[in-house]
Amino acid sequence: MSTAIVVGAGIGGVTAAVALQRCGWQVTVLERAAELGEVGAGISVWPSAVAVLEELGVKGVEKAAAISKPAGMRKPNGRWVVKAADLGVELPVMIHRAQLHDLITDEFGPGITVRTGYAVTKITQDDTGVTINDDLRADLVVAADGIRSVIRQTLYPEYKGPRYSGYTAYRGIADVQIDDGGGETWGRGQRFGFARLIDGRIYWYATANQSAGQGGDHATVTKELGEWHEPIPTILAGTPPEAVLQNDIHDLSVPLVPFVQGRVLLLGDAAHAMTPNLGRGACSAIEDAGALARHLAGATDLGTALAAYDRERRKATTQLVRRSRGIGRVGQVENRVVCAIRDGLFAFGGKLVSLRRRK
Ligand SMILES: Cc1cc2nc3c(=O)[nH]c(=O)nc-3n(C[C@H](O)[C@H](O)[C@H](O)COP(=O)(O)OP(=O)(O)OC[C@H]3O[C@@H](n4cnc5c(N)ncnc54)[C@H](O)[C@@H]3O)c2cc1C
Repeated sequence: MSTAIVVGAGIGGVTAAVALQRCGWQVTVLERAAELGEVGAGISVWPSAVAVLEELGVKGVEKAAAISKPAGMRKPNGRWVVKAADLGVELPVMIHRAQLHDLITDEFGPGITVRTGYAVTKITQDDTGVTINDDLRADLVVAADGIRSVIRQTLYPEYKGPRYSGYTAYRGIADVQIDDGGGETWGRGQRFGFARLIDGRIYWYATANQSAGQGGDHATVTKELGEWHEPIPTILAGTPPEAVLQNDIHDLSVPLVPFVQGRVLLLGDAAHAMTPNLGRGACSAIEDAGALARHLAGATDLGTALAAYDRERRKATTQLVRRSRGIGRVGQVENRVVCAIRDGLFAFGGKLVSLRRRK
């Protein structure tokens, strides 16, 4: 039986383990944290990633009950810029990260062994397999060890690595009753977004321009955005301050080439970390795992399957990283005039799309 080691048990790693299991591989998952699981708040799972999870047999990722109120983009005073319904966009499933992680690991069968508290520090390979920490060996290694991947640093010593976007993100969960379809509110160099999770709670996030490492907390967000339109003040007031997360946003803006070296394959943030503006980083990791399963399933030769994975996933994710960075730049503009032009263009674009759809 073919053997694989998956390094990292984030959403990308655990989905890759399920994908390999479905192809009949014996899988060992190595995770440096003491326990399996995800911290964090909510996450958007777009239809293409939901389809992959369904293909892999992961159950329970479904939409929350529809809200009658509109969703879309607003100004800090509450005026609509554009409504999602006018654009005809399909909204993602919103789920707590820990719940998504649990739903995926629920599919772990006897073919998957998990070792927590195991940090990978060394990787070597030859024609017949890959060795981790002079200790474990497998036919294939999937590096799903995140944006600061040790495996990427080892295999690509010249690669520059993560780049700071210029802004930080806050995330929280509020257990409040609100009658609002959600969406994003764009101000000057600040954004706030919220959506209902499938468990009924409200997931929110906010961004602010600042230098890396400056920090910030619930009080910082409340001071800056606490007077924006309702339900933003209600959501912030209903959030336990100690559970607010703050992360400086980085991405791999210089594309990594290739995603595969010999018998080692990079997946998720290790390969193509992107800013969260499209809400697609974890979705892309899930889609990487789906592509891996698809290419391995029909393959007689491992090298051919990995080359097909590399071609498909590099093309798809390079565009997403670039688009996501671009949206962040536009969203974080501070100049009053430029913001007014931006909002006007969005509103005009929304009207055009809406008109075209009605025709
Ligand atoms: C503010 C914010 C909001 C976001 N919102 C969304 C969203 O709504 N939708 C979406 O799709 N994406 C979103 N993302 C992106 C998403 O979080 C990431 O793309 C995704 O979590 C990447 O998953 P991963 O498994 O590749 O890496 P990670 O989640 O980083 O997992 C890597 C794992 O590897 C382990 N590890 C690291 N090094 C080693 C080692 N040497 N040995 C062993 N184990 C190791 C780590 O402990 C970790 O468990 C968001 C990101 C941010 C910052």
